[in-house]
Amino acid sequence: MRRVRFRDAAGNVRGGRWTTVDGEEVVTAAAGPYGRIAFGDETFDPEEVDILAPCEPTKIVCVGRNYADHAAEHDAEVPDRPLLFLKPPNTVASHGSTVTLPAGKERVEYEAELGVVIGEQCRHVDAAEAEDVVAGYTCLNDLSNRDDQEREQNWVRGKAFDNAAPIGPVIATSEHLDDDAAIETRVNGETKQSSSIDKMVFSVPELVEEITTYMTLEPGDIIATGTPEGVGSLDQGDTVEIEIDGVGTLRHSVTFPDRR
Ligand code: MN
Repeated sequence: MRRVRFRDAAGNVRGGRWTTVDGEEVVTAAAGPYGRIAFGDETFDPEEVDILAPCEPTKIVCVGRNYADHAAEHDAEVPDRPLLFLKPPNTVASHGSTVTLPAGKERVEYEAELGVVIGEQCRHVDAAEAEDVVAGYTCLNDLSNRDDQEREQNWVRGKAFDNAAPIGPVIATSEHLDDDAAIETRVNGETKQSSSIDKMVFSVPELVEEITTYMTLEPGDIIATGTPEGVGSLDQGDTVEIEIDGVGTLRHSVTFPDRR
C-alpha cells in the first residue's frame, strides 16, 4: 500500500492510496503517468490535486555519511557509529512544491535519501524488532546549505532552514521496498545520483536501535538514512526528482529569492 495525503478540489485534506497502473481496472481509470489516488470510491489524478507531505513529523533524525562513496567524495571517514543530526518540522516540504531556499547562498545541494517513517511511539527498540515500529518508506531530499554547513558545528543553518526536507509523495509499506532498491536523483531530467540502498553502512534496524537508545520516536517521525555519492549544487528554477524503486518519485522545484 502507498498512502498519500492530499487536498481535494473542495479544500478538504484527505488520506488516500496511490494506486499504480499495473492492475487492469486502474489502467482504465488512469489519466496520468502517476496512476490514480483512491479515496473511498472516488479516484483523482495526482496531477490535479495538491499532494501534501505524507506525514507530519515532530522531528526528522538524519544520518550523515552512511554511504562510503559519499563520505569519500567529501574526503571524510565513515564514522564508527551513526553520525546523527536533526531537521525540525519547519523543514518539511511537499511533492510538487516550489521550495524557497535561503537567500545569499552559493552552494545548496540535493541529497537523495530513503526516509523511514515511524508508525508508533517507541523507545529502546532492538534492531531485531525494528520493523514492528516502521510504518513505511518515503523519498526525502536532505537539502544542504554547504556555505554555512562547512562553517558551523551543529548544521543548524546548513541543514535546518525552512523547506530543507522535501518528502513524499507517499508512504510505501515494506513489501514495496527491496533490500537492494535503486535510489536515483535527476535534476532537470539529468541523472545525478544513481545507487542502491544496500550500500548503506548502518542498516535501517541498526539505526532504529541506535536512535531510540537516546530519544522517543513518534508516529510520523522520519529517519533520513543518508545519501550516496553524486551530490551537487542546485540553480534557480531547477526541478529535482528523487526516485526510489518501489516507493515512488518525489518531484519539486527550487527558487533562490536573490537570483534571477
Ligand atoms: Mn544527508
